[in-house]
Amino acid sequence: MLIEEIVKQAAQAAQKMSPEEKAKVRQQLERCWPEPCRRITGQFRAHFESREAAEAFASHPANTAYHGDIAHLCLKCGAWHLSRPEWLVPSWMRDMTDQGWN
Ligand SMILES: [Zn+2]
Repeated sequence: MLIEEIVKQAAQAAQKMSPEEKAKVRQQLERCWPEPCRRITGQFRAHFESREAAEAFASHPANTAYHGDIAHLCLKCGAWHLSRPEWLVPSWMRDMTDQGWN
């Protein structure tokens, strides 16, 4: 079954649920679907559903803190995050590149 069909059927089923049933389903989904990663402050990291959405956010003139960031799929939470390029490459690899090992 295509994911779009699953989402469509879930949305139709949700329309027939009471608020209590929706809350119960939400709790069950949260248990099997990890929440986005958090910063050390406890706030959620910026997270996106697609590379395109992340890149659009990073290139927006208002989001200067994210300019130059690289969109990458997080294996921990399954969302797309934005990171500085140097955060995504281990220091030993950067050292090798700096010394002409590329
Ligand atoms: Zn994550």
